[in-house]
Amino acid sequence: MSGVLVVVEHKNGNGALTRVSLEALAAGQALAKQVGAECSAAVLGEGIASLAAELSSKQLAKVYTLEHPLLAQYTADGYVHALQQAVAKINPAYILFPHTYQVRDFAPALATRFQQVLISDVIAIHDGPTFVRQLFQGKLNADYRPAATPCFVSVQAGAFRADSLEAAATPASIEAVAVELAAEQIRTRPSAPFRESAHTIDLAAAQVIVSVGRGIREQENIPLVQALAEALGAELAASRPICDAGWLPMERQVGSSGQTVSPKLYLAVGISGAIQHLVGMKGSKAVIAINKDESAPIFEVADYGVAGDLFEIVPALTKAIQAAKR
Ligand code: FAD
Repeated sequence: MSGVLVVVEHKNGNGALTRVSLEALAAGQALAKQVGAECSAAVLGEGIASLAAELSSKQLAKVYTLEHPLLAQYTADGYVHALQQAVAKINPAYILFPHTYQVRDFAPALATRFQQVLISDVIAIHDGPTFVRQLFQGKLNADYRPAATPCFVSVQAGAFRADSLEAAATPASIEAVAVELAAEQIRTRPSAPFRESAHTIDLAAAQVIVSVGRGIREQENIPLVQALAEALGAELAASRPICDAGWLPMERQVGSSGQTVSPKLYLAVGISGAIQHLVGMKGSKAVIAINKDESAPIFEVADYGVAGDLFEIVPALTKAIQAAKR
């Protein structure tokens, strides 16, 4: 038993690998280096040749395709049966997934088939390997050292960087894994796929985010930060109290009970930096914080800090950016 197998997820509708899958692949490559093994990927579905081709452009030993008409749409039973056969054939020591709703649905059952558990929502992988996951809303980091293989692990969105994913010098070979699947093995019938409304904001894909917190005081002041976001071509996000108050929609909330983001730049305006907020944005490449309290915890994770009144700084900054663009 050796090697790392990353099971990727894709959007059936447009046949694209999800961003969190690319992050899981980056985690898989890092783990493979640590354990001195090869990293491969597996993709499930029907008509997945283009996805396999996309995967083969990454630094991978092999790309496995699990193709079957009964995998055309996701079902937990279908995925568990198919992946059980694939894991038995490929014999990897580590099986990695992105920590998505779909993975939460089927991966624990898959792990149980091998008398294992899923080490879920992992934020870091250290030598050993040791998998780190958070407990008590991020107050504690716990180290998990698997006692046996195969070891099943899901990685938190934003914990690994998709842009650190290594490309292949020569395309990885693609191998079809024959899957035996019968209709009666699938106990659920998928209904129409969930379609997000056109207005839903995918903060996870944003490159630049301006995020506003309770320091803004009133809903009437939100346009101040909105103008800054527009000047920067950024998405507007918020801490939980702002969304709880209905000043911005819930889908703009960043944190443990909101979205997890990993932009190139995260500008936190009037946000204290509570742990529940930090867990949602700690994957950002650069963090700038504006806060009038010099000892605010947000400054501990900020690359650049401005200790001052946002009502003075934000309009001046917006003006300067607008002027620079002219
Ligand atoms: P505050 O903590 O009130 O901070 C406001 C900051 O603004 C202060 O640091 C202050 O110095 C600064 N400020 C004030 N006036 C100015 C000014 N004029 N100029 C500059 N700075 C100024 N929170 C989240 O964000 N996301 C989550 O997903 C989330 N999930 C949670 C889940 C649970 C189970 C629990 C218990 C809590 C959760 N929270 C979450 C809430 C979290 O604990 C904090 O209460 C919240 O993040 C605080 O938001 P804030 O930083 O905007 O407000």
